[in-house]
Amino acid sequence: MTPPISTTRIVDVLVPVALNHTYSYRVPAGMELRPGDIVSVPLGAREAMAVVWADNANPDPRLHNRLKDVGEKFEAPPLQSELRSFVDWVSTYTLSARGMVLRMTLRMGENLGPERVRLGVRLVGAPPQRLTPARRRLIEVLSDGLLHGKSDAAHEAGVSGGVVDGLVDEGTLTVEVMPKPPPPPAPDPAFAVPDFSPEQLRGAEALRELVAKGGFHVALLDGVTGSGKTEVYFEAVAEVMRRGGQALILMPEIALTGQFLDRFSNRFGVRPLEWHSELTPRTRARNWAAIAAGEAHVVVGARSALFLPYAKLGLIIVDEEHDQAYKQDEGAHYHARDMAVVRGHIAKIPIVLASATPSVETEVNARKGRYQRVALPSRFGGQHMPHIQSIDLRRAAPARGRFVSPPLAEAVRATIARGEQALLFLNRRGYAPLTLCRACGHRFSCNICDAWLVDHRFRKRLVCHHCGFSTPRPDVCPHCAAEESLAAIGPGVERLQEEAAALFPDARSMVLSSDLITSIETMRAELTEIAEGRVDLIIGTQLVAKGHHFPRLNLVGVIDADLGLGNGDPRASERTFQLLNQVIGRAGREQGRGIGYLQTHQPEHPVIKALIANDREAFYDSEIEARERTGYPPFGRLASLIISAGDRPTAEQFARGLAALAPRDDQVQVLGPAEAPLAVIKGRYRFRLLVKSARGYDLSAYLRDWLAAGPKTKGNLKLEVDIDPQSFL
Ligand code: ADP
Ligand code: ZN
Repeated sequence: MTPPISTTRIVDVLVPVALNHTYSYRVPAGMELRPGDIVSVPLGAREAMAVVWADNANPDPRLHNRLKDVGEKFEAPPLQSELRSFVDWVSTYTLSARGMVLRMTLRMGENLGPERVRLGVRLVGAPPQRLTPARRRLIEVLSDGLLHGKSDAAHEAGVSGGVVDGLVDEGTLTVEVMPKPPPPPAPDPAFAVPDFSPEQLRGAEALRELVAKGGFHVALLDGVTGSGKTEVYFEAVAEVMRRGGQALILMPEIALTGQFLDRFSNRFGVRPLEWHSELTPRTRARNWAAIAAGEAHVVVGARSALFLPYAKLGLIIVDEEHDQAYKQDEGAHYHARDMAVVRGHIAKIPIVLASATPSVETEVNARKGRYQRVALPSRFGGQHMPHIQSIDLRRAAPARGRFVSPPLAEAVRATIARGEQALLFLNRRGYAPLTLCRACGHRFSCNICDAWLVDHRFRKRLVCHHCGFSTPRPDVCPHCAAEESLAAIGPGVERLQEEAAALFPDARSMVLSSDLITSIETMRAELTEIAEGRVDLIIGTQLVAKGHHFPRLNLVGVIDADLGLGNGDPRASERTFQLLNQVIGRAGREQGRGIGYLQTHQPEHPVIKALIANDREAFYDSEIEARERTGYPPFGRLASLIISAGDRPTAEQFARGLAALAPRDDQVQVLGPAEAPLAVIKGRYRFRLLVKSARGYDLSAYLRDWLAAGPKTKGNLKLEVDIDPQSFL
């Protein structure tokens, strides 16, 4: 008998695909569903995973017959209302489809459901009459009488599953269900509490209080490089552990956190759970389940970890909060630091932002008292801040085709002679950024991007850094057929290593650059080698600038301090200040005096001057003043619209049409369209519109209205919305 129509329950579910709206389904009789439950639903020809978003408040009975039934309910805790509100909020703010934001919370890699029952085998009886070598090996492996996973045992003995089954049939082995592996042990807040300096103790106390008090609150842990920020914020984590909550620590580059994981286990006795793109699908599924069940206590993750379904999140720490890597510029464009604050607000929990060089936005929030500043103004253990000096390249120029100036070379030599480490920093991968033919002037550029090909000698190829296209470096010019005519122009880290090998022939050197990394393990091993002092000279890109602690490193030489300045990017000064401060902050952390050299053509530039004077306030004062004057963030708001298409006229025409339809509003300025600085990427022609508004203005709503009324993209036209853009390329 079918129940009367009015009792049929209808739910609206959100599917993790590029759609904003929910779909309605009937709840089959006998199925208990709550908002947040993860279900499967028939969608077109397939079954899709979905999340119950709400009860359909006013179902029209006439529709019921056309609705399909919810398929299956998965055995997973429901997504909490806090997380669902967060998904809605992020989608509204960033103009990304709600389903795409939801998708970031459901990255469990495998299908849900109860964990598969694993079978084990145990040695119980006498060996069989017919004892093959394979059987003998298996019995040997199981001779301890314990329960072994069936496939593990076969693997260890090097035999097939059939051999195991054979011994089971003979009665030599029994099959039993393996017990579920125990949840990971909890970090012990009392495992190894460090001896804090009075300054650190005050900071730790402040953060502990924040957690104890609970509720939404943002603190900026503002500590110079080497002040022990990690040790201090660990005390906030410890407080969360005492209260039985979960803590999330966000890191800009999770692949490089080997040292961090060790420090965590030294402090808490166990490792935290990791979350990043390199996890195997199986680990991902298991970690996701542990997070959702509240069994994972501390998660260390990349920005994507912000969207996971924590059962009892009590704290989010954003380490190196100023780092650009927190901005995701593909799919849903979001800034994980800003969204962490939003999640904290919705979940009513404290947020700690840690940095030695806060973003201008965060610094302004701290100055205005919106964020609590917890300051660590000096290095731990009485170490001095590095002394910073500029080398004016106009006066002390390196030899032709060389990049290390004589004074820097001399200083490196002296450092290595003292048994200390030196780092030469150049934020450029490869051998040379440009290759040209000396005979005809031909420049090697990418066929499908508006970019030069970068010479990578190590890989023996010319590579496009935008699309990954690569081609072997030819012997003759493809343009004029001249032989031996190709010249490398400008330096990359590989070329710098060549020069260093000639300058310091006895030094043990190592190049660290993201494109030379084969795996996270080798990367972590190399960093350990440096930390243990088995390398004299490090040559690296920004990969080495972040967070590392190399006890013997005392000299940092910046090959091109001007590299990031004055390229028209509104954030050029801020980025350069942060990056150079970070990289020089690697020097002199444990013993001796650290020194930093900045090779520059413009020693009078305000950023270079502020670095040399170690005058952080001067830098922020002038940068904040400039942003206020020009109405740039955080004193105004920005959004970019990026229009791209397979050909230039299509992209340009669409961009112009869109701009013409921008709603008039006194508080909004629409600039452009202009051809993007990177005019072509992967064969797509790009135009940009920049939208500026006053600070308190709802720019997202403005854009939504505009785009709803504007022309629709079709064919291979693409329109990307980037709220609070970080990159203007
Ligand atoms: P930051 O992140 O502020 O640059 P770190 O947290 O990396 O600084 O700390 C610098 C070094 O000092 C690390 O090796 C850390 O273990 C050590 N350190 C900091 N505080 C203490 C402390 N109270 N006791 C022992 N070692 C400490
Ligand atoms: Zn390319």
